[in-house]
Amino acid sequence: MSSVSRREFVKVAASALVVATVLSASKSRSEEVRGRRWAMFIDVTKCYGCMACVVACAAENNVPIGVFRTWVERHVLPGGSVVFVPKQCNHCDNPPCVKPCPTGATYRGRDGLILVDPDKCIGCGACIVACPYGARYFNPLTGVADKCTFCDHRIYLGRLPACVEACPTRARVFGDLSDPHSEVRKLVDRLQSKVLKPETGAEPQIYYYALPEVASR
Ligand code: SF4
Ligand code: SF4
Ligand code: SF4
Repeated sequence: MSSVSRREFVKVAASALVVATVLSASKSRSEEVRGRRWAMFIDVTKCYGCMACVVACAAENNVPIGVFRTWVERHVLPGGSVVFVPKQCNHCDNPPCVKPCPTGATYRGRDGLILVDPDKCIGCGACIVACPYGARYFNPLTGVADKCTFCDHRIYLGRLPACVEACPTRARVFGDLSDPHSEVRKLVDRLQSKVLKPETGAEPQIYYYALPEVASR
């Protein structure tokens, strides 16, 4: 190769590199802009209190006896009928549990997940007190604050959270709320749903269909 054509080659290669870098930067920026928003839709009419979700969660996440990442409440309505309402961390958009943490152990992870870094947690309990949903507990096995993670170790492998997978009636639907084609998005748009304690301003991201007033606290 002559020195001129070598120079030309270097110039072309450098331009290609610049174009590739710009393209990849804009791709990652557009992915960031779109983002994902993990959320859950719970159809109370489909829950019959079998507790398969609670057992699956405990087994999957090594939840100690006596504490729960998810639980199912039983409520008797004024007419005498019984409803079951599954609850857990709502992975709030404006989570009251994050700010009081003195060490930054409780933090907003990717795609809306609210998580605890066990290496930073000093077990002071401030986040447990601050959560208006009672969704956190002190884990006696690890000595740190704990709660539902939407099974983040599973969902990024393309699997469902353990509670969702275990539910025999599909009362729980999990997915990306920012994807207009996701089932969770379509259900939230199509069916009138409610969140728990909207007055707290926490902006919880679990949406309930047919939630009775008595269970919304
Ligand atoms: Fe935090 Fe409680 Fe909201 Fe979960 S439900 S994000 S623990 S405030
Ligand atoms: Fe933060 Fe841990 Fe204290 Fe909760 S218990 S506020 S996560 S340091
Ligand atoms: Fe309800 Fe499904 Fe949980 Fe059974 S597994 S208690 S039906 S949400």
